[in-house]
Amino acid sequence: MNYTEIMVRYGELSTKGKNRRNFIDRLHGNVEKVLHPFPQVRIHPKRDRMHLTLNGADAQQVMQRLQGVFGIQNYSPSIQIPKEMAAIKKLALQMVQEQYQPGKTFKIATRRADHQFAYDTNQINLAVGDYVSSHLPDIQAEMRHPDIKIQIEIRLDGAYLSSQTYSGAGGLPVGTAGKAMLMLSGGIDSPVAGYLAMKRGVEIEMVHFYSPPYTSENALFKAKELTARLARYAGRIRFLQVPFTEIQETIKQEVPAGYLMTVQRRLMLRLTDALRQQRNGLAIFNGESVGQVASQTLESMAAINDVTTTPILRPVATLDKTEIIRLAEHIGTFDLSIQPFEDCCTIFAPPRPKTKPRLDKAREYEARLDTTGLIQRALAQTQLTEIHSEEHFLESENTEMVNLL
Ligand code: ATP
Ligand code: MG
Repeated sequence: MNYTEIMVRYGELSTKGKNRRNFIDRLHGNVEKVLHPFPQVRIHPKRDRMHLTLNGADAQQVMQRLQGVFGIQNYSPSIQIPKEMAAIKKLALQMVQEQYQPGKTFKIATRRADHQFAYDTNQINLAVGDYVSSHLPDIQAEMRHPDIKIQIEIRLDGAYLSSQTYSGAGGLPVGTAGKAMLMLSGGIDSPVAGYLAMKRGVEIEMVHFYSPPYTSENALFKAKELTARLARYAGRIRFLQVPFTEIQETIKQEVPAGYLMTVQRRLMLRLTDALRQQRNGLAIFNGESVGQVASQTLESMAAINDVTTTPILRPVATLDKTEIIRLAEHIGTFDLSIQPFEDCCTIFAPPRPKTKPRLDKAREYEARLDTTGLIQRALAQTQLTEIHSEEHFLESENTEMVNLL
């Protein structure tokens, strides 16, 4: 089929009353960002739908890009033709024939935006339905669960027909919920947490700690590559790389082994919170999952969380590892996350971190450090880059865009 348009149906945002305009504008901007390789596509954001006029762009390639855009419930490629019954009937039949096999049922569903059109929706449904039946005598009409559904829209500028509807990513347009920082490691969990945050409309900025020369350059590239993968859902994502070597070396000297992990995490959180404040973020997301490892018991979370009152959101807190892995595979980050580049926590991990650290002890050991100085120096050397979905940082990365869903 020679599609001329993609018709996009909004997700949850259509229920958001007054905020609707903001949601549609954000979605418009986000669609524009992911479609930048197709400058010929025209985007028409309407109150209840968004129409993308293809102007010759390939419908499949455009739809593949749309798969990652939150706030889209579903979309249908459609064909624009003149508003003439004969032409409408002919194309509808062609679309049914394309999918027809003996035993399959069908339905014609019409919407009419142009109320001047000579026929109303019932008349169109009946006339087109009869025409299809007369050419395929064995086909049955079925109103509730048809196998083949032809949608007809009569608009001012023409009739639009579609026969396929694909699921979108759901969620809310990225940016509508405000901005937050994501603590991104190179592991499996934090990229999934980032995906889930964006799904609810949060714009995320990555905060990544690295410890050269203990961590290789590839560990940093891996975090950036993961960011590029997640940028498919946001157009682009800002990435803050924070040097953590001095802090880790100092902690290793000053703090008893059992509390190394807890104190390191407190410093990571202090730094993330300072960056959040500088950059006007509202919250912090991380990839912690209750009970997964020593630093993620509730006691441990309490001893770490102590350094700030900023909301810390943990989207994967209650998921099993297998559930997180399934999501990581679904969003295309798993294969990267399991590449073996040591990150800063693995290298400085004590053999036996306390699973139930005491808050008073954590505070006491941290107080041995020049926290202010350490934080100031790390912040002064923090680098900001903007990462786009097409970018690659690891040599082995293939440049193909994978199918997201
Ligand atoms: P992940 O798979 O996300 O690395 P994990 O199960 O390996 O999680 P930890 O290594 O204990 O768990 O890290 C817990 C959380 O702390 C991570 O999900 C991430 O949000 C944050 N974190 C850990 N290491 C870093 C890092 N180097 N830079 C930024 N954040 C980090
Ligand atoms: Mg990790």
